[in-house]
Amino acid sequence: MIKGIGASNGIAIAKAYKLVMPDLSVEKTGIADVAGELAKLQEAMEVTATQLAAIKEAASKNLSAEEAAVFDAHALVLADPELKSQIEDKIKNEKVNVGYATDEVAKMFVMMFESMDDAYFKERAADIKDVSRRLLANILGKSLPNPALISEEVVVIADDLTPSDTAQLNKNLVRGFATNIGGRTSHSAIMARSLEIPAVVACKTITEDVNDGDMIVLDGKEGIVLVNPNEVIIDEYAAKRDAYITQRNELKKLVNEKTESTDGHHVELVANIGSISDLEAVKANGGEGVGLFRTEFLYMESASLPTEDQQFEVYKEVLETMEGKPVVVRTLDIGGDKEIAAIDMPHEMNPFLGVRAIRLCFEKPEIFRTQLRALLRASTYGDLRIMFPMIATLEEFRKAKAMLKEEEASLKAAGFEISDSYQVGIMIEIPAAAVNADQFAKEVDFFSVGTNDLVQYTFAADRMSNSINYLYQPFNPAILKLVKGVIEAAHANGKWAGMCGEMAGEPLAAPLLLGLGLDEFSMSATSILSQRKLIRSLSKAEMELLAAEALTKGTMEEVVALVEEKVAIQ
Ligand code: PEP
Ligand code: MG
Repeated sequence: MIKGIGASNGIAIAKAYKLVMPDLSVEKTGIADVAGELAKLQEAMEVTATQLAAIKEAASKNLSAEEAAVFDAHALVLADPELKSQIEDKIKNEKVNVGYATDEVAKMFVMMFESMDDAYFKERAADIKDVSRRLLANILGKSLPNPALISEEVVVIADDLTPSDTAQLNKNLVRGFATNIGGRTSHSAIMARSLEIPAVVACKTITEDVNDGDMIVLDGKEGIVLVNPNEVIIDEYAAKRDAYITQRNELKKLVNEKTESTDGHHVELVANIGSISDLEAVKANGGEGVGLFRTEFLYMESASLPTEDQQFEVYKEVLETMEGKPVVVRTLDIGGDKEIAAIDMPHEMNPFLGVRAIRLCFEKPEIFRTQLRALLRASTYGDLRIMFPMIATLEEFRKAKAMLKEEEASLKAAGFEISDSYQVGIMIEIPAAAVNADQFAKEVDFFSVGTNDLVQYTFAADRMSNSINYLYQPFNPAILKLVKGVIEAAHANGKWAGMCGEMAGEPLAAPLLLGLGLDEFSMSATSILSQRKLIRSLSKAEMELLAAEALTKGTMEEVVALVEEKVAIQ
């Protein structure tokens, strides 16, 4: 058994197809005919451009416009005059062969981008590698393997799958893939999930461990690959695969359905996102909106801070894509375990208890105000709800809101149109705010409970620490009591209460939260349909009784046992 990282759910059973690159190593040779080498470069560039256009064409049939846009990025890399002129200079100045010059210049660019301390630029390195490999193959007269030519069901085995490889995969024939390298957020993993192809990445040496034609069983959830297993095991996995497919198809029927309990109570199931690219999954899984847009990822993508205009474009696109459905955008939550290159963070003994989120925004008001302006300008494009993180006191909320209103006034004075119906709310993730929710509820438009932090601060247990993870107790009656108080305070003041911590997506939590009266559940898009199915099988009235009983329990274990006894959860 080969163990890797499960990157895309599902089970694949098919023969191995090794997608292994030809040897593109080049020798350095001196040349006399500079013009000849330059002409070869020009020709190879033209051929490469034509190929990229053809791949994009094929990709747009299999992938979304956004995914196919990767190839626009590739076309741009190829068209970058810097790349061409550096190769030409090398040929002219050093009198070396075009293959060598191309290889050296590409390596230099890749190294430069890879060494940048920034996920965005690291990804650009992958694009450059991909394009220059194709260019080099064309210079050397070699052809790259062409997954578009696969004609039977296969599990693709590769070192990594570049975006152009993945785009050429015929979804009807490629049952799954396994790679040597990669992680859950690598390009290949993201594409696999959006294509719903089971995948296991980071299998280290799978291209050596597997031969073409070997029988492969791949479990994308567990992250394992079995090579030439016996018939009994194949049958066992075939049954699992069929059950998974049936379950998924069943769930897909609920994409356009409401989330309503058996006694007619409606709740909203919305999604947590970190970027625009997550929106496709929100739609595919029937998300009724966005319950948490973690905007800090915008700030992590580059070495400099995103400008007001850049942010405006992103918020506008998210609102427009959600077509009038609610979109809760959380203002910058940096600090704790999240740092960004562009902001100089003080070193603190306990960063989770230090200058984090709204506290940092107050220390760096220009950064905060830039984000507020971008949000306000986007407010006319949909149903915007602005949410402040890590609020502990009412003064903090008032101060943040006052800054928002100041920016609104100055934008209006400058002639910008601002919606008059956007909402302003807070995350409830600090126990002080939960306990004082009745006071907050008079002034905010909504609450969203962030259980990831609420649990860490209630139990005084660092969420990053492994040794005390037994104190991650979202089902402890202490948390349930806080959540109950928050929901009741909201409702008493005609406001709504949601939850965007991981707890909202946990099947065991659905009965309790429904019973406690939670209005909105925000979770990763892939959890939405199973939570919808579960909630549609529950009676709100019965869950109220269950929640009341849970609140009489002493421990998390007892609460969990009670829910498991009363509710059938698959
Ligand atoms: C939370 O704390 O529950 C939450 C949703 O925010 P984050 O995980 O980003 O801190
Ligand atoms: Mg939080």
